[in-house]
Amino acid sequence: MAYDFDLFVIGAGSGGVRAARFAAGFGAKVAVAESRYLGGTCVNVGCVPKKLLVYGAHVADELEQAAGFGWTLEEGHFDWGTLIANKNREIERLNGIYRNLLVNSGVTLLQGHARLTGANEVEVDGQRYTAEHILIATGGWPQVPDIPGKELAITSNEAFYLKDLPRRVLVVGGGYIAVEFAGIFQGLGAATTLLYRGDLFLRGFDGSVRTHLKEELEKRGLDLQFNADIQRIDKLEDGSLKATLKDGRELVTDCVFYATGRRPMLDNLGLENTGVELDARGYIRVDQQYQTTAPSILAIGDVIGRVQLTPVALAEGMAVARRLFKPEQYRPVDYQNIPTAVFSQPPIGTVGLTEEQALEAGHKVQVFESRFRAMKLTLTDIQEKTLMKLVVDAETDKVLGCHMVGPDAGEIIQGLGIALKAGATKQQFDETIGVHPTAAEEFVTMRTVTR
Ligand code: FAD
Ligand code: NDP
Repeated sequence: MAYDFDLFVIGAGSGGVRAARFAAGFGAKVAVAESRYLGGTCVNVGCVPKKLLVYGAHVADELEQAAGFGWTLEEGHFDWGTLIANKNREIERLNGIYRNLLVNSGVTLLQGHARLTGANEVEVDGQRYTAEHILIATGGWPQVPDIPGKELAITSNEAFYLKDLPRRVLVVGGGYIAVEFAGIFQGLGAATTLLYRGDLFLRGFDGSVRTHLKEELEKRGLDLQFNADIQRIDKLEDGSLKATLKDGRELVTDCVFYATGRRPMLDNLGLENTGVELDARGYIRVDQQYQTTAPSILAIGDVIGRVQLTPVALAEGMAVARRLFKPEQYRPVDYQNIPTAVFSQPPIGTVGLTEEQALEAGHKVQVFESRFRAMKLTLTDIQEKTLMKLVVDAETDKVLGCHMVGPDAGEIIQGLGIALKAGATKQQFDETIGVHPTAAEEFVTMRTVTR
C-alpha cells in the first residue's frame, strides 16, 4: 500500500523534531503535526525559559558579591516585565529557528491537533493522512492533585507568563521544578516558601546532596517546610490566597505554584483507535526499540515516562530515525550514567550512582567528600559552601558516581559524564592534572576516604 508519508510524527518538541529532521535527512518522506508551539516544552515552557529566569535570579548573587570586589552600586531595581518580555522575544526567535530546521530538512509541517484514527492513519484538522510509521512524541503536562481550590494554583506553564512577580509565593513539591522555581522566585525578590510532603526534598538524589542543598537554601532565607502538604486553597477578600495544610496550619500567600510532577500528554490522541497500550503508570508502553503494542506506532520522550530530560528525548528521536531509515547507523540509547543538573541556587550536578544506590546494588563503597568555601566568596561575607562527592567501588576502583552542589555544577558534571561513560577509575581521576585555580579541580584532588 502506498502511504502519504513514511513517517508521521505527532508533536514538534525535543524528541519529535529530532526524529523528523534526521528521518528526512536519511531520505524519508516525513510530516510533523504540532498543536501548540514549535520546540515543545523545553523551548517554550521548560529548560530554555527556565534557565533564562535562573540567570536573572543569579544576578542578585553577583550584586551581593560586588562590594567585596570594590564595586559600589546604587540600589538595584528588578523589573519582572522586562525579563519576561525579553525572554518571550528569545523564545519567538527559537520558534522560528525550529520552523526553519524542519522546513529546510524537507519535513511537511502541519499546524494543528493530531488524532490517531487507525494504526497507519492520523487526522489533523479534519484532514486524514496515512503513514507507514507513526511516532508519538507528545510530551507531558503538569499534574496538580485534586484538592478544593486547585484552580487558584498555577504551574510552570503559567509561571512563565505571570504579569507581575508575586510578593509571596508558596511552591508545592520537592522535585526539579519545585526547587528550581523556588530559587527563581526567591532570587528575584519574592518571599518564598517551599512545601514538600516528605522528610527531605529531591528523593532519588544523593543523600549528601539533598542535605547540603537544604542547608544552603536555608542560609539564603528560603522557608523550607517538609512533611507539609496543602488540603485546600481559598481566595480571600483582598485577593490573596489562603492555603490550609493537612496539619491544620493556614498560610497566606499571593501565589500557589504546584510542581508535583507531570502526566503523559494523551488528551484526545485517539489511542482507542489503535492497539497502543499504556503501562501501569499510564505512560505509553514501548519495547527496547520504542515500538508500542501496535507495530506501526512508536513513542519516545516524556510520553513513555522513562527519563524526562531533553537530551534523552533527543537521543531516543535519533535512535528511532536511524533504526527505521538508516539501520546500519543504529545504536541503542545508553540509559546508564545520564548526567543531569538541577538549576537551583546553588545548582546541583550529578552523574552515576548515588551512595545509597551503590550500597543497594551491593558495591563495596568508598566515599570521597569535600565541602569548601569557593575562592570567589573569600572577598565577600557570603558563607556558602560547595559540596563535591565521589562514590567509588572499593574493589574495582571504578568511579560509580560524581555529585556536586555549587556554582557551575551543571557545566562541571558534563565532562565527568564522559569520564564515567569511559569507565574511569579513581586512580585515573587522581592522575588527571587539575585546572588551577578552579572549584572543579577538587574532583581530581580528593585523596582521603571520608567513609
Ligand atoms: P515535548 O517537548 O513536551 O513536546 C511535545 C509536543 O507535542 C508539544 O509541543 C505539544 O504541544 C505537542 N503535542 C502534544 N499532543 C499533541 C497532539 N495531539 N497533536 C499535535 N501536537 C501535540 N529537561 C532538561 O533536560 N533540562 C532542563 O533544564 C529541563 N527543564 C525543564 C523545566 C520545566 C519547567 C519543564 C516542565 C521541563 C523541563 N525539562 C528539562 C524536561 C524537558 O522539557 C522534557 O523532558 C522534554 O521537553 C521532553 O521532550 P518530548 O519531545 O518528549 O516532549
Ligand atoms: P518530579 O517528578 O521531579 O517531582 C515531583 C515532586 O512532587 C516530588 O517531590 C513528589 O514527591 C511531589 N509530589 C508528587 N505528587 C504529589 C502530590 N499529590 N502531593 C504533593 N506532592 C507531590 O516532577 P517535576 O514536576 O519537578 O518535574 C518533572 C520532570 O521534568 C522531572 O522529573 C525532570 O525529569 C524534568 N525536569 C528536568 C529539569 C532539569 O533537567 N533541570 C528541570 C525541570 C524538570 P515524592 O518525591 O514524595 O513523590
